[in-house]
Amino acid sequence: TSAQIGVTGLAVMGRNLARNFARNGYAVAVHNRTVGRTKALMEEFGHEGEFVAAETAKDFVAALERPRRLVIMVKAGEPTDAVIEEFAPLLEPGDMIIDGGNAHFADTRRRERALREQGIHFVGTGVSGGEEGALHGPSIMPGGSAESYDSLGPMLEKISAKAKDGTPCVTHVGPDGAGHFVKMVHNGIEYADMQLIGEAYQLLRDVAGYSPAQIADIFRTWNTGRLDSYLIEITAEVLSHVDAATGKPFVDVVQDQAEQKGTGRWTVQIALDLGVPVSGIAEAVFARSLSGHADLRAASRGLAGPKAKKLSESEAAAFADKVEQALYASKIVSYTQGFHEIAAGSDEYDWNIDLGSVAAIWRGGCIIRAAFLDRIRAAYDARPDLPSLLSDDTFAQEIADAQDDWREVLVAATRQGVPTPGFSAALAYYDALRAERLPAALTQGQRDFFGAHTYRRTDREGSFHTLWGGDRSEVEA
Ligand code: NDP
Repeated sequence: TSAQIGVTGLAVMGRNLARNFARNGYAVAVHNRTVGRTKALMEEFGHEGEFVAAETAKDFVAALERPRRLVIMVKAGEPTDAVIEEFAPLLEPGDMIIDGGNAHFADTRRRERALREQGIHFVGTGVSGGEEGALHGPSIMPGGSAESYDSLGPMLEKISAKAKDGTPCVTHVGPDGAGHFVKMVHNGIEYADMQLIGEAYQLLRDVAGYSPAQIADIFRTWNTGRLDSYLIEITAEVLSHVDAATGKPFVDVVQDQAEQKGTGRWTVQIALDLGVPVSGIAEAVFARSLSGHADLRAASRGLAGPKAKKLSESEAAAFADKVEQALYASKIVSYTQGFHEIAAGSDEYDWNIDLGSVAAIWRGGCIIRAAFLDRIRAAYDARPDLPSLLSDDTFAQEIADAQDDWREVLVAATRQGVPTPGFSAALAYYDALRAERLPAALTQGQRDFFGAHTYRRTDREGSFHTLWGGDRSEVEA
């Protein structure tokens, strides 16, 4: 038999993707560097569909119908290059290599360019949803040529998650690295969402005085409203979980040092290169990093904090509602920042990314799936050239309604000494964007003073310099 698609790299993600293809009626060739994984897949799941097990690269390639569709699902970085080097010489013009790993989009651009010379389509593809998503339907973000999407699109649509309205959560994001870029920003937004949820939790606990179980209930209630999302849902599950060994809330027995694999950090690094202010995502990455500095934290534990009292029971309930407002407003801001980064990447690399369809394919399957994304899609559909999500009338109105509570929550957090880097950065971004005048004018004056860097005026064209060391007259630069 000849397989319609092949998957090499059969750890959790690759194995489940291969099973997903097979369960959807495709004949799937499977291959892994270590043959044991291939055998295990055949033994455990071979009955689920039509699999062709291949032990060698040559057999694997020979098992595929042409043009070949070969999915690589191995560790990102050098392993991906090693696998490409192994397979590319065995392929022919028109064949497609789909890299579903978490590659850096710059690597994807490099690989796409090199393989294009050989006539091979390299399709850098973001896949989100973890192992469950890979099996039951992930959100899929393929880049690469439009031609490759003609061939792959229908298969990807079949195995992808479906949004509530039935639309497959996959679209051709754009050429070369566009898919992996969008996946990167997805993960950056995921970091921000998780940080904001974490801050809401800590405020409910340390300011309002609720227990983890009570906070789980609050999150469950929130999950029936506009915050309805996978992350809020699992947050309630984690918070209500009790550790079997100690009988304590699970969150109280887990070390409070967050780890990261790097996609959030990339989002911030690239945003710095592109000059896009993603302060909320950056704070989320820094918050994880700060949490990991155990020694520094231990050495700082004796530092002075405010004397503040917890809220009364009736105050606490009102406060919880305000935290919901603050969380929602901050969430709008972090998505605003993330979509700004995608728009900037799209401009920089000529990807022509449709922001509305990015929001649409995140509605199902992926970690940040949420009812909220329907609204973002609607905002971009109504106005594809929307300068910012905050320019959308609905979002602007919602923030207008939330902002008093948002500010009050931050006042309470400050009084109580609860760190809220995500909420605070979001509000600072909002206030900076809407400000009539920013102190950037003063910054320009300082730069001109010490470095003759020149400035522009509000009332005349041109660049100017003030003779700060002389008679302070102004000259045209
Ligand atoms: P891992 O990232 O743990 O990678 C293990 C796989 O890579 C194994 O099949 C392994 O083969 C193979 N591999 C490693 N080095 C080489 C090499 N030099 N040559 C050939 N094969 C090699 O597996 P996951 O399933 O967790 O993830 C796969 C990809 O999907 C990664 O890029 C990951 O970032 C991405 N991803 C993961 C998600 C997740 O939730 N886990 C979510 C979305 C994307 P062997 O068995 O021989 O060691």
